[in-house]
Amino acid sequence: MIKLSKRQDEILQIVKQNGPITGKKIADKLSVTRAALRPDLAILTMSGKLEARPRVGYYFNDKFELKQQAQQFIYQKVADFKAHPIVVEKSTSVYNAVVQLFLEDVGTLYTVDSEGHLAGVISRKDLLRAALGNRNLQELPVSVIMTRMPNIITIFPEESLLEAAKKMINYHIDSLPVVKEVDQQKNTYLLLGRITKTTITRAYVEIMEGKTV
Ligand code: ADP
Repeated sequence: MIKLSKRQDEILQIVKQNGPITGKKIADKLSVTRAALRPDLAILTMSGKLEARPRVGYYFNDKFELKQQAQQFIYQKVADFKAHPIVVEKSTSVYNAVVQLFLEDVGTLYTVDSEGHLAGVISRKDLLRAALGNRNLQELPVSVIMTRMPNIITIFPEESLLEAAKKMINYHIDSLPVVKEVDQQKNTYLLLGRITKTTITRAYVEIMEGKTV
């Protein structure tokens, strides 16, 4: 992104508030000549921030601003948006996992092994599927129904929200555990947090409303 000069920024603000506005009127507002403004107006129109229409004048390009805000997504890190992961014991019953889902108001639970490494993911559908099986949900441990390592799709804190969104779309899942690698060969990861479709939606709104830049 190019850094605007103070003068260019002033022009942009004038056009934002008064557009469409002629070059002459912008020059008058800044108490300079029309000729003195020509290079700045050229830069602003060439970069797409302003548009010029003959006999109408300069006006602000809303779409350009929107596109720039949308592009901010690429720079947002998973680390800054991750939520707290809700962990249950592998021996927890499916029944208690359902209760936990409501108590914590989440859609996905995680299990970890004795060393705290990510071991399993239990989603709403996993629990519903188990319930359809007519089994005794108070007896059935979540370890039987969970998606386990090495099949869990993970994300690192330093990756972008865009990467997280793409993974969720590509793998048809609602959330990703945020992890730190312990041993790649043994597939061991420490569970740091979670990124969900809700997290992504919230980040989108914050970025578009200009709260995060
Ligand atoms: P829901 O069941 O609420 O629709 P998901 O779409 O996230 O939630 O889950 C669908 C399936 O994918 C479930 O079997 C779940 O265990 C599995 N799953 C969820 N998250 C992951 C993940 N990060 N990596 C691998 N599998 C996952």
